[in-house]
Amino acid sequence: MAEGKIEVSIVTPFFNEEEVVNIFIDEICKVMDDTGCTYEIVCVNDGSCDGTLEKLISKKGNSGNIRIIDLSRNFGKEAALTAGIDHATGEVVIPIDADLQDPPELISELLKKWREGYDVVLAKRGDRSTDSFLKKFTANLFYRMHNKISDIQMPANVGDFRLMSRKVVNAIKQLPENQRFMKGVFSWVGFKTASVEYRRKKRVAGKTTFNGWRLWNLALDGITGFSTVPLRIWLYIGVFISFSSFIYASFIVIRTIVQGIDVPGYASLLTFILFLGGIQLIGIGVIGEYVGRIYMESKRRPPYIIDREY
Ligand code: UDP
Ligand code: MG
Repeated sequence: MAEGKIEVSIVTPFFNEEEVVNIFIDEICKVMDDTGCTYEIVCVNDGSCDGTLEKLISKKGNSGNIRIIDLSRNFGKEAALTAGIDHATGEVVIPIDADLQDPPELISELLKKWREGYDVVLAKRGDRSTDSFLKKFTANLFYRMHNKISDIQMPANVGDFRLMSRKVVNAIKQLPENQRFMKGVFSWVGFKTASVEYRRKKRVAGKTTFNGWRLWNLALDGITGFSTVPLRIWLYIGVFISFSSFIYASFIVIRTIVQGIDVPGYASLLTFILFLGGIQLIGIGVIGEYVGRIYMESKRRPPYIIDREY
């Protein structure tokens, strides 16, 4: 490795994480010093409104290992991660959460696999016992559904914590979309992949900002970002309903001819109207999801804006 060249870039988004800044940086520095690699920690402050930025700046002091990218507001984790990856200069890039739920000790194992020749080394959550039942259940459902209907296969129980070589990072940087579902983007680019397992820990301090609603929206981003099946399925639903209606209509017409006009039927009529109305609204809603995304994407806004770099 050439003198002055950085081998490992650690990329971490921070959103209101003042309680964990010091513990996190200390932990990473300890682990990275042990590996003997040259490294940088790219800290992205995602518009925190607590003392995260001040903590980061004072922690940085005059250490050349720590870089701070301060975004102009909160752009969300996916955008913050994109900012960090865009600015990382290392031979390998490792995104990792600030809350130490992803154990830094694993980094040396990731590096080992990379030296064996893999371009992507996934950190797989072998044990998610620190996650709630509901989170595990919904996560599982999401991965199963996503993988069934998307062009890409996303490994289950893998977060953003992983190692990527420069080749992979350069490929990711070429993707022009501004609505980024990073886990999908990471899988989409491909490359030779290995994985190592770890136990997902509890947050060291602070609390998660990913509540149910935010996770649901993240799941929608994931699915609409990598699949058009939800759009195409309406063709088949439409064909099925039309065909069934045709059979039923023929039956009603024949029955009317044979048995005469049969006035009662209010209940079935109302049921069909409501059912079809509901189905149509769902269909329009799904189309709306995609149209909304096309609209946002077509503005060509950058995924993040940087206020200042330190
Ligand atoms: N994060 C961020 N912007 C946001 C929300 C979260 O940069 O709008 C960061 C956060 O600081 C942390 C990481 O994303 O480093 C993961 O967030 P969190 O621990 O809340 O999510 P969870 O682990 O519960 O999925
Ligand atoms: Mg977390």
